[in-house]
Amino acid sequence: MKASFYEGNRTFTLREGEVIAPGPGEVRLNVAYTGICGTDLHVYHGAMDKRVRIPQVIGHEMSGTVAEIGEGVKGFSIGTPVVVRPLDNRAETPADRGYSHICNKLKFMGVDTTGSLQSSWTVPVFTVHKIPSGLDLKTAALVEPLAVACHDVRIGAVESGELVVVIGAGPIGMLVSLVARHRGARVVISEVNPFRIEFARSLGFEASNPKDFDLAAWVREESAGSGADVVFEVSGSKVAALDMTDLLAIRGRIVLVAIYPQPVELNLFQFFWKELRLFGARVYEPCDYEKAIEIAASRALPLESLITDVHTLDHLTEVFKHIDSDPNAMKTLIDCQS
Ligand SMILES: [Zn+2]
Repeated sequence: MKASFYEGNRTFTLREGEVIAPGPGEVRLNVAYTGICGTDLHVYHGAMDKRVRIPQVIGHEMSGTVAEIGEGVKGFSIGTPVVVRPLDNRAETPADRGYSHICNKLKFMGVDTTGSLQSSWTVPVFTVHKIPSGLDLKTAALVEPLAVACHDVRIGAVESGELVVVIGAGPIGMLVSLVARHRGARVVISEVNPFRIEFARSLGFEASNPKDFDLAAWVREESAGSGADVVFEVSGSKVAALDMTDLLAIRGRIVLVAIYPQPVELNLFQFFWKELRLFGARVYEPCDYEKAIEIAASRALPLESLITDVHTLDHLTEVFKHIDSDPNAMKTLIDCQS
């Protein structure tokens, strides 16, 4: 079986991997597609070399089929199409208060443990979700980022008719926008990359560049003076963090999706004055995965349009180099079988 190993120093090598027979409570999957995500790019940049164990197979946004079933596993047959929720919470303790998805000793599969950029992947069955046969495996590789968006929108408690601003329209920002609109919200996108602005518009969103447009004034105008109900901060920009409070109505909600490795400045007076609420949102819970699978299978969202290109496992070094240099790419998939 084929496996592409991250070797450090922005390099991947294709090698013959080991087919690992599933132990009790595990299944072995044939990986169909693996999407490349921002986290994988962080690994590529060497920013996570303390967490990955080089050489290591990374990747976590996958779809596939069941190839082998371990002892005690019920409800799966050979060939069942599935996706993996790549969170291994087996080291969870009572101190985690039941929040399994963000427990202190969480292992993120594909970073802390072996990932899916290989043709065969053996995983604990509690991470596996079945998908309906009508959902093609290419689209199904987007279930993981779509589940992130479902989690974010659920945390933000977005309701039909609300005015929502999404700051940052990369793949996650686009998916958050699509899911929020699917829930009936009016979604406005703030983005600085002209290609992404055009892409958002092509999907029917109102999108503009905050550098040449007074978004806060516009939002107030469109909401009879009150402001936005929810802001999703997906950009990770310091300016966005400082300005986002101006966009919100009284009791408006902020969902923080972006990762800020360093502390940044916030306008706390706005929080006080308008009784704003700020919610952190990280990965997903099982119900978000089920929701994402349901939405993907319903074909209600144009998920295919987010897939920029599809490559094979054998030249990942070039693929990562290309993604890294192309700020316009949305989602690149790797066909892990051919
Ligand atoms: Zn991801």
